[in-house]
Amino acid sequence: MLTDSHCHLDRLDLAPYNGELEGALAAARARGVSRFLCIGVSLENREAVTRIARAHPDVYASVGVHPCDVESGTATVEQLINWGEAPEVIGLGETGLDYHYAEQTSELQQESFALHLEAGAKAGLPIIVHTREARDDTLALIRAHGSPDSAGVLHCFTESWEMAQAALDLGYYISLSGIVTFRNAEALRDVARKVPADRLLVETDSPYLAPVPYRGKPNEPQYVREVAEFVAELRGLSLEALAEQTTENFHRLFPKSLARRPQ
Ligand SMILES: [Zn+2]
Ligand SMILES: [Zn+2]
Repeated sequence: MLTDSHCHLDRLDLAPYNGELEGALAAARARGVSRFLCIGVSLENREAVTRIARAHPDVYASVGVHPCDVESGTATVEQLINWGEAPEVIGLGETGLDYHYAEQTSELQQESFALHLEAGAKAGLPIIVHTREARDDTLALIRAHGSPDSAGVLHCFTESWEMAQAALDLGYYISLSGIVTFRNAEALRDVARKVPADRLLVETDSPYLAPVPYRGKPNEPQYVREVAEFVAELRGLSLEALAEQTTENFHRLFPKSLARRPQ
C-alpha cells in the first residue's frame, strides 16, 4: 500500500511499456504502489494530468504553475479555485520558488506562489511546494498567505533540518524523494530520521531523480518502493509500516482523496 505522492505521469519515459502509461502504472501496482498523485506544472499540462487522473481510480491530480514555468503563464486565484473543484483534483501546485534554476523570474514566482497559497486557503486545498535556494522567501510567503487549516507539503525535500522544523511548525508535511539515497545526502538522511512519523511522505518526482540503484536512469513510480525501503531502514521500520504510515499521512494531508480512495 505505497503512495507515490509526487509524480509527473504525463512526462514518463514509456519506451519500456510500448508507449502505454498503463504499463508503468501496472509495474508500480505489482510492486505495491496503490496511489499516485500526478502533478500539474503549467496551464498547458493541466488537461493532461486531470485526464490521467479521471481515467484511473488510483491516480489523483493537482493543478498549478511550477516556479520554473511562470513565464509561460500564471493562474488567477479564481482559476485555481475553479479547477480545484474537480473531484480528481486534491491539491494545488506544484508552486513555490526556485532561485537555483530560475532566479531571473523570482518576482513573478513570488506572485504566483502567493496566489496559490491564497487559493488554497480559500478553497481548503493543500499546497504542493517546490523550493530551491529560497528558504526564507518560501517560509515568509507561507506565513503571509497560507492557512494552517489546509497547509501543504514541501516536496522533494533537500533542505536543512532547520527549514524542515520551520515548515513543520506551519503545519506542513515533508516529502522525501530518491535524493535521500544519494551518496552525498548525509544531511538529508538526518532529516529523514527526525521528521515526525505523522508528517512524512515519500515520492518519486518521476521521471526525474531516480533513486539508487537506478540513479541517472529515467525514474518511474514503481521506484517509490526503493525510496520507501531506504527511509524505512533509516527509521528502523519495516517497509510495510512505513508504507502504511505514509499512505495514512497522504490521506490526512489531502482530505479530498478520501472520497476517491482505492482499495
Ligand atoms: Zn518540484
Ligand atoms: Zn515535480
